[in-house]
Amino acid sequence: MSKASAEPRVVVALDYPQAEQALAFADQVTPSLCRVKVGKELFTRAGPAIVQALAERGFDVFLDLKFHDIPNTVAAAVRAAADLGVWMLNVHALGGPRMLQAASEARQSAGRELLLIGVTVLTSMDTEQLKAVGLQAPPAALVAQLAALSAEHGMDGVVCSAQEVEVLRGNLPDAFVYVTPGIRPAGMQAGDQRRIVTPREAAQAGASYLVVGRPVTQADDPCQALLTINAEIADIRTA
Ligand code: C5P
Repeated sequence: MSKASAEPRVVVALDYPQAEQALAFADQVTPSLCRVKVGKELFTRAGPAIVQALAERGFDVFLDLKFHDIPNTVAAAVRAAADLGVWMLNVHALGGPRMLQAASEARQSAGRELLLIGVTVLTSMDTEQLKAVGLQAPPAALVAQLAALSAEHGMDGVVCSAQEVEVLRGNLPDAFVYVTPGIRPAGMQAGDQRRIVTPREAAQAGASYLVVGRPVTQADDPCQALLTINAEIADIRTA
């Protein structure tokens, strides 16, 4: 993990279509205030260069590409991400035990520090959507099962809603990492997020890292928005 940062727990989702916009944001803040997330749109448009440019500026980069493929392919992609110097990477737990194991072993063989995070059930999947793809279990049970599977096969943590952390943590390793999106500072519009919590609520629930996009990137003063969130969670540490 980068020593340049003072362990910031907010991960800003750089959901911009162009590298220039992502870098313009990065130039308004510092790596001691936040880490950053590069997702499918930005990565597909701007490629590995944007990850390198952010890393060169000292930012820890969460590469949110949610790998899901045969074990050999995912292992190769994990090695590629490790070579790129990303801080955090996620894979779909639905890829199964062998895929998770392959991802974990690939990270080990790459010999670099890299947090591997399992994606359990996408929040866009409800009971009906899950049934349509042949998954009959209630979403909450499936989330718990996939989180346990992630822990068993070498993942360092999971992406989940802050509301799920309390239930999950009882059955998972103490050091397990919980990465939580769906954060909205009090009084702010939810937008398309359905189940939202404030930064303080998320931190109190035990979130390790808070993924925050628009509340920061679309603020009139992104740096101030970030400072406000950091101040709100400064006194809350995870167990
Ligand atoms: O702008 P906002 O704060 O809603 O951004 C949240 C980020 O977290 C987006 O990049 C979104 O894709 C991601 N995310 C999410 N919900 C999940 C998983 C990821 O909002 N369940």
